[in-house]
Amino acid sequence: MSLVSLSSGRDLFMTPGPSIMPDRVLNAMHQPAPNIYEGEMIGMTDSILADLAELAGTKGKVALYICNGHGVWEAAISNLLEPGDSALFLNSGAFGTSWAGIGRTMGIDVEEIDFGRCGPIDSQRVEARLRADKGHRIKAVMTVHTDTASSVRNDIADLRRALDEAGHPALLVVDSIASFACDRYEMDAWGVDVTVTACQKGLMTPPGLGYLLLNDRAQEAANQVPFPSPYWDWRSRIEPEVFYQRFYGTAPTHLLFAQRAALDMIVEEGREVVWSRHAALARAVWAAVTAWGADGPMRCNIDDTACRSHAVTTIRADGHDMARMRRWCEDQAGLTLGLGLGFDLPEYMGGKSVFRIGHMGHMNPPMLLGALATIDTAFKALGLAHGGGAVERAAESLSKASSQAL
Ligand SMILES: *Cc1c(COP(=O)(O)O)cnc(C)c1O
Repeated sequence: MSLVSLSSGRDLFMTPGPSIMPDRVLNAMHQPAPNIYEGEMIGMTDSILADLAELAGTKGKVALYICNGHGVWEAAISNLLEPGDSALFLNSGAFGTSWAGIGRTMGIDVEEIDFGRCGPIDSQRVEARLRADKGHRIKAVMTVHTDTASSVRNDIADLRRALDEAGHPALLVVDSIASFACDRYEMDAWGVDVTVTACQKGLMTPPGLGYLLLNDRAQEAANQVPFPSPYWDWRSRIEPEVFYQRFYGTAPTHLLFAQRAALDMIVEEGREVVWSRHAALARAVWAAVTAWGADGPMRCNIDDTACRSHAVTTIRADGHDMARMRRWCEDQAGLTLGLGLGFDLPEYMGGKSVFRIGHMGHMNPPMLLGALATIDTAFKALGLAHGGGAVERAAESLSKASSQAL
């Protein structure tokens, strides 16, 4: 047992969500309850939905729900599919499989293609599967942009090409929860019909708001579903006759204040700058992992840098207990890291040889370099083999990013 703890100070919570909430977002919630029938709530909500659409690169509509990510997963299925309909779910980590499980429970005829936990979706395989579906039974292809377990980032434009090349009319439905406001996302240009996202990751807001962004094709498909669930039905939410129908009940007042403040920060920074900042921070993490791995077991779970998320990095240290390292960081240093989700197999020590660094949302070099230096300290304190110079490499990487920006 250690006689000292170094952890008194400001804690850093660097799991891939919920992400760090800016003081500006927290402070925005510190006010009395507003009128939920008239006044500022109405314009503020409209402005949130408009800013989200712009951030996603879509001219489509936005439905807002009071729920977490699992809720909007269900909302997407509920609006687009009815029991007995077929849908193809693509898994590249853990989240596609979880979503598919919800579909099965709802009576959807779920087909899943699993691309494993260490690489992206292979669009050629998807194209071949869709070509084989000559009767066009598959109504939707459901996939995840960034799988938060593997930290892979899939090429959605390439997946769209697969649907088009196969001449298949299925809707393309994309979970962008972990990538939204972190990685470039171009809903209309990429041909996405429905985007699923939520407020607690790149959007820097306390958990509780989920969003569906949808185009005309999605609306037409939803109009064919005979008995949509009253709560998830997006129709009144996107075109309300009275304001409360946006929420199907009481407005989530303080989450809206928080979301507005977070979007103000994102709009002030600019989406291109937000994306390039995340890219620079991610590269700094990878540089550190490369240095650690030169004389230790640590490596980025995703080999190809073009397929790596800019929001979260999954690190494998095969045969070594990283749960101990995470425990040290949390107890001794006030730094919370993500656990190895979706790696519960003996070869990954039930997930213990894997950890994740969330670097999404409210994140700058002192926070990130502090976290990397803290992990380095944990390796040293626990005698875990690792290469030297990781923080130096991360600093060099960031310095290059800043000179490119000038
Ligand atoms: C976090 C996350 C979810 C689930 O969100 P919850 O709020 O935990 O329900 C779904 N998909 C992805 C890609 C995520 O990162």
